[in-house]
Amino acid sequence: ALVHAVRFVKGGVSMETLPTGGLAEVAFVGRSNVGKSSLVNMVLGRRAIAYTSKTPGKTQQYNYFAVNEGRAVGSFHLVDMPGLGFAKVAAPLRARWNAFLSEYFASRRELRMVVHLIDSQVPLQETDVSIMQMVGAAVAARSEQEGSGLAPPLDYAVVLTKADKNDGRVSSRTVDQVRRALESAGCPAATPLVPSSAKTRMGREAVWMLLREVMSE
Ligand code: GDP
Repeated sequence: ALVHAVRFVKGGVSMETLPTGGLAEVAFVGRSNVGKSSLVNMVLGRRAIAYTSKTPGKTQQYNYFAVNEGRAVGSFHLVDMPGLGFAKVAAPLRARWNAFLSEYFASRRELRMVVHLIDSQVPLQETDVSIMQMVGAAVAARSEQEGSGLAPPLDYAVVLTKADKNDGRVSSRTVDQVRRALESAGCPAATPLVPSSAKTRMGREAVWMLLREVMSE
């Protein structure tokens, strides 16, 4: 098994409250209801780990899970980010969260990969385009400053969720739409697109292929 242990570490609410210690991390981000908790649970092989993040009042935290803690090989932090795109959030609070979000992507040294979940069964949403723009800018900035002692390069991947609703396929229309949006947002042309389903466990292996690049060796 790839996952020997998972422990909830803490919920971060600002750059200063994120864990220290330098363990590499991968962040899972997406709109509310995209299927993030289901996918994180599928990837970790745990039934209800990520749902703990949904406890009322805890939803706006960056929830850190230590995977394979203390092992020489295969340890990392999985960061379950809050579901984005809530229309109800008041403007000042939203601005504060967006500032935290872009600083996190741009300058969190431990962050090596962002996995962006997009619902394959609904048209691409404004929130997804915003995430692409923010991550695209961070990927570009971090690759330009490589070797400067600032944040190391950042990888980015898109997971297309709920593919079981369409017999396990993602329509070429959806793929084209996502590809075009990625290009407009300045994201790398080689950004992986991974179809997935928490129902059929489709995409589990492909996500693990991505995570292996982040794990300690
Ligand atoms: P989150 O808000 O992004 O964490 O999303 P959840 O994992 O809680 O899922 C939101 C809703 O989508 C729930 O009703 C899930 O049952 C459903 N869902 C999640 N993943 C899938 C999937 O792969 N296939 C289908 N058909 N439904 C899913």
